[in-house]
Amino acid sequence: MSPDWSATGFSTRAIHVGSEPDPATGAVVPSISVATTFVQDGVGGLRGGYEYSRSANPTRDALQAALAAVEQGTRAFAFSSGLAAEDVLLRAVLRPGDHLVTPDDAYGGSHRLFSRVLGPWGVEHTPVRLSDVDAVRAAIRPGRTKLVWVETPTNPMLRIADIGALADVAHDAGALLVVDNTFATPYLQTPLVLGADVVVHSTTKYVGGHSDVVGGALVLRAGPGDARAEELAADLGFLHNAAGAVAGPFDAWLTLRGLKTLAVRMERHTDSAERVAEWLTHQPGVTRVHYPGLPEHPGHLVAAAQMRRPGGMVSFQVGSPDAAAALVARTGVFLLAESLGGIESLIELPGRMTHASVAGSPLEVPGDLVRLSVGLEDVDDLLADLEQALAAAGA
Ligand SMILES: *Cc1c(COP(=O)(O)O)cnc(C)c1O
Repeated sequence: MSPDWSATGFSTRAIHVGSEPDPATGAVVPSISVATTFVQDGVGGLRGGYEYSRSANPTRDALQAALAAVEQGTRAFAFSSGLAAEDVLLRAVLRPGDHLVTPDDAYGGSHRLFSRVLGPWGVEHTPVRLSDVDAVRAAIRPGRTKLVWVETPTNPMLRIADIGALADVAHDAGALLVVDNTFATPYLQTPLVLGADVVVHSTTKYVGGHSDVVGGALVLRAGPGDARAEELAADLGFLHNAAGAVAGPFDAWLTLRGLKTLAVRMERHTDSAERVAEWLTHQPGVTRVHYPGLPEHPGHLVAAAQMRRPGGMVSFQVGSPDAAAALVARTGVFLLAESLGGIESLIELPGRMTHASVAGSPLEVPGDLVRLSVGLEDVDDLLADLEQALAAAGA
């Protein structure tokens, strides 16, 4: 008898939902279902609802079921990348003349999508400091604002937005609240429970977790009886298939494998990030540390209320762009690379790497900012690596 998974804890859901043993063979792991097409028993006689793998695929279904379960949503859609997921959501909800409120600190690719893809199609956006609820309310254009887009913690400044408060502001205006939950992951934060309508993921990051698969997802709170939410689920499902940027079966399978160990990885990422952040506050060359787990962080209390733990991302400043560039060139365990959320520790210079495309925009980041994705190596090795790099960089 299958338990009521909705009554079980995070890891139990992550490991079991969507991964029920194969009824024919008993295999405890879902297979990678590579067929592009499925035989029909007479026209329209589908076995298990499968027809063509863009429309639906068993491996993708397994991942989608697991993602919905861990986010405590009702529907999930898996895409070939995080940006593909964002694109479908934006096109499903927004029409020319519409407006959205966006973060003034965000993943650079999301900003590029808002400004350079949606903009020319006649959709306007206003970047706002999301930690300021009144500023978000003031940015809403009555009747035109259809979405409030939230990142928390933000990339790369690690600012915190109050999801529940922003959901109220969005809903008062008849807009949807969308949360990009890539940095926090569903283990640390469940935006749908806090009032968000849709969660966006780049599963490329912590969910996949091993820097070996690009993917994205949308998860919805749509419930029976909520006509607007049901309509959104139908619109997203339509565009998922009609535009076609779906997750392939190999990618879906790797992402599902990653998801099963998310909780243990996030605990260790956070243990080490807490150590690294605290240690950085004592280093003479470090002028500021941005980490929501530090008591002096302006979003500390909101983060403590809405997140299980503060997560594995740490940013800090070293006083000058030259010192920052010298530092990131001198680490050995921390690899100099974009992206985040994998088992290996990464270091980067947002101003010249991940956020180079937002230079000159309201999202521009400090030139002396260094971003760390704290990995799963032994934390003493991470601290030693940063110590020698800071010394060598003269920071
Ligand atoms: C990486 C990332 C994205 C985009 O996802 P891709 O999988 O690279 O397309 C969106 N949001 C955040 C916060 C990210 O880190």
